[in-house]
Amino acid sequence: MDVNKFRRKIIAGNWKMNKTVSEAVDLANTIKRELPDGCDMDVVLCPPYTALKAVGDVILNTRIKLGAQNMHWENYGAFTGEICATMLRDLYCHYVILGHSERRIYFGETDRTVNQKVKTAINSHLTPIVCVGETLDQRESGSAKDIVSTQVRESLDGLNVDLGKIVIAYEPVWAIGTGRTATPQQAQEMHAFIREVLSSMVGEEIAQTIRIQYGGSMKPANAAELMSQPDIDGGLIGGAALEALSFVELIKSLK
Ligand code: PEP
Repeated sequence: MDVNKFRRKIIAGNWKMNKTVSEAVDLANTIKRELPDGCDMDVVLCPPYTALKAVGDVILNTRIKLGAQNMHWENYGAFTGEICATMLRDLYCHYVILGHSERRIYFGETDRTVNQKVKTAINSHLTPIVCVGETLDQRESGSAKDIVSTQVRESLDGLNVDLGKIVIAYEPVWAIGTGRTATPQQAQEMHAFIREVLSSMVGEEIAQTIRIQYGGSMKPANAAELMSQPDIDGGLIGGAALEALSFVELIKSLK
């Protein structure tokens, strides 16, 4: 199977709780202007909710796609402070990050809620970027693979045929925002393992079509080596996505 046909590279910038609307518009405009022609990958911007509309307007009719950083699993109702999939579709979002470790750690997100959200996202024609990854303690105690396997299985429980529509982001918690990146070998080992887990859930053929991004202090200096690994299909970028030039330089380093 020609996996490149299915696993088009995907680079997504997670802006987290940063950027006012005008700052977000500036950042999106500069990225749009500086992005090299003919770069053969999906580029996704995930601004905070407040800037989704404005950034969506900037990237309208370009090949840059819009993503959100979270959503509720219900489609409407009395959930003060929440945002639903229909609202994201209304703003032309294509992607939604689900189960980011910061949501798991600070907001009590669990594999069960992630699973509910993934199902709603797929039913609403949003592509979920499902985040998994172990903490430093878990890695050091030798349980990283068990943890990641459970997160993958439980977050994607009951999806079966729809699994081909999702993106997984392997983000070791110890590498997020710390400047400490997983080595290409550590990342590849876990990505290959995640693909094995997926394969046991949906079969080898579908597992080979699922994109798995790496996230955790990815930057222009280390992106190409990480992305040269056979099971690494993209990057979820935090800090290096907040500056247009580092985000674009990272993308250019992959050409
Ligand atoms: C992230 O939060 O998804 C992330 C990968 O952050 P950073 O690139 O800053 O480590």
